[in-house]
Amino acid sequence: MSELTEQESYRTEISKLGEFGLIDHLTKNIELQNSSSRTGVGDDAAVIDHEGYQTLVSVDLMVEGVHFDLTYTPLKHLGYKAIAVNLSDIAAMNGEPQQVVVGIALSSRFPVEAIEEIYEGMLMACKRYKIDLVGGDTTSSTSGLFISVTVIGRAKAEDICYRKGSAAGDLLCVSGDLGAAYMGLLLLEREKAAFKANPNVQPDLEGFDYVLERQLKPEPRTDIVVLLKEAGVKPTSMIDISDGLASEIMHLCKASGVGCRIYEDKIPFDPVTLNTADSFRMVPAVVALNGGEDYELLFTVKQSDFEKVRQIKGISIIGHMTENKGHADMVTSDSQVIGLTAQGWDALKNKADY
Ligand code: ADP
Ligand code: MG
Repeated sequence: MSELTEQESYRTEISKLGEFGLIDHLTKNIELQNSSSRTGVGDDAAVIDHEGYQTLVSVDLMVEGVHFDLTYTPLKHLGYKAIAVNLSDIAAMNGEPQQVVVGIALSSRFPVEAIEEIYEGMLMACKRYKIDLVGGDTTSSTSGLFISVTVIGRAKAEDICYRKGSAAGDLLCVSGDLGAAYMGLLLLEREKAAFKANPNVQPDLEGFDYVLERQLKPEPRTDIVVLLKEAGVKPTSMIDISDGLASEIMHLCKASGVGCRIYEDKIPFDPVTLNTADSFRMVPAVVALNGGEDYELLFTVKQSDFEKVRQIKGISIIGHMTENKGHADMVTSDSQVIGLTAQGWDALKNKADY
């Protein structure tokens, strides 16, 4: 986590390059990878041709102090994450992300080297997921850093998964494991507080790599979209888990007009998440339900797809949809039934005093 401090040793003012010089500098090595990207950076608008497919569009705005904290977020990771979380939204529609456009606003406190770091992370994510960065806008800010990413994806009309498609009896499935990113965030916040109290203490983050990585460098599950397609399974509804499992379950229930029952002992966790939760004296299920930023996929499938889904590695069936409209509950490990509320992760509520 030394990237932020390293770059303080050299500093090029943005004004030295100017807006156009900066854009050119940041985008000169971009090579378009997707045939749907007809024209990228350099004209007044990008040209995209998703012939035969429907176009999926989603945007996310990340604000310093609300969505990220630069005291412990390396800029390269921030760039990577800004792209990754957007790709996750396209995966959640059962689509293929293809292009991104990036809006960035920064104050003069950031040198060119800082933006280079952000772009390095963004382009790393683009390369990994075969996405073209086809345009953007660059402007100044009087306070803090803002990054807005718009992602453009595609899907055949018949493949698109909405939140509204699930029916009572459908199985509720989740990819990967949950709660890790929130545990990573709590660790980083704890170390920040310790450092504030005593700048001489060394961060104690050994053995926690997994949860830190899940917080700082999430990976969108575009692979699950491919695996489901290969298995011949089309989810009846789907959403990505950005605000905690409880909140996303409620979204699926509301949109589909159904209820849901999940089982605590079916929620998937990584061992490092369990250890970290233990050290914070937190119940892992609560972390999964109310934490955030897992960027896993939550989806429902017909019961008749049970065998096919069971064969796919990295997918857990955690419950089923019910006729109890708008009502979700969880059967705990000691067989109690508790109602779920969508506390989730509301950036506006949590940080209302910013
Ligand atoms: P205009 O004034 O017509 O909006 P700009 O000068 O903002 O044009 O942008 C010129 C070109 O550079 C456009 O193709 C735009 O998409 C691209 N661009 C601007 N800012 C960025 C950025 N931060 N990242 C990538 N491309 C950018
Ligand atoms: Mg512009």
